[in-house]
Amino acid sequence: MSPRYDVVSIFPEYLAPLELSLIGKARQAGLLELSIQDLREFATDRHRTVDDTPYGGGAGMVMKPEPWAQALERTLREAPAPEPGEDAFLDAESRRPLLVVPSPAGQVFTQRTAEAFARERHIVFACGRYEGIDERVLDWAAERFRVVPVSLGDYVLNGGEVAVMAMVEAAARLIPGVIGNPESLVEESHAAGLLEYPVYTKPSVWREHPVPEVLLSGNHARIARERRDWQLERTCRRRPDLIDALPPGALDRRDREV
Ligand code: SAM
Repeated sequence: MSPRYDVVSIFPEYLAPLELSLIGKARQAGLLELSIQDLREFATDRHRTVDDTPYGGGAGMVMKPEPWAQALERTLREAPAPEPGEDAFLDAESRRPLLVVPSPAGQVFTQRTAEAFARERHIVFACGRYEGIDERVLDWAAERFRVVPVSLGDYVLNGGEVAVMAMVEAAARLIPGVIGNPESLVEESHAAGLLEYPVYTKPSVWREHPVPEVLLSGNHARIARERRDWQLERTCRRRPDLIDALPPGALDRRDREV
């Protein structure tokens, strides 16, 4: 069964790019079900208000809890039913959908997070706005979902939509079948803890800049070794923290010389 992602937002039209390109094609091919829901459907007043002033004072507005509870309850009602026998060995906790709450105060999203998301059957993304969502929604939701606040990085966006687009794209491209050639996922930056090597295409000399000679040699073993060296050099230069985080044994003797 294809995974289902629900995105709840007060700006559903913000998520329109998820109909384009590879993610759009994956949806059309039935590899991913993606539903975008308007939080304001659950507002009760004429102005469709979903925010209010913060208790305790302070700047800005806070998203009201009740529209969120109703929107999230709907995603539970629409949750995909397990295939016969599919989750027979899962406990009740593991059967709950994942509720991803984008927040600059969450754990930082990485390729490992994307890989974990790509294994989920049902994810609900709750896009905050203003100063965020009333905290009680997260407590209430923890009895129905596995709740994870997730940050795109250490900076503050205006809303969760851009963060969700990045997370959906990073996760969905790892769902089997979404990327035509799965080989292209293997050597990518962050796949095995290193950055990708530099890439080149035709012409072999462009504006007096030649491509490295080894790439024209046809010697695949030499090309593989050279690319590995470039990966290591680039990672050391741009992201030494990634080298420090490599598991023991990730580097061979030749790597260490680089
Ligand atoms: N007052 C909040 C704080 O300081 O933690 C920031 C609220 S921000 C203006 C509004 C919404 O944008 C957040 O609720 C969240 O959904 C989203 N957002 C902002 N920065 C984000 C980030 N780095 N990662 C993920 N979501 C973010």
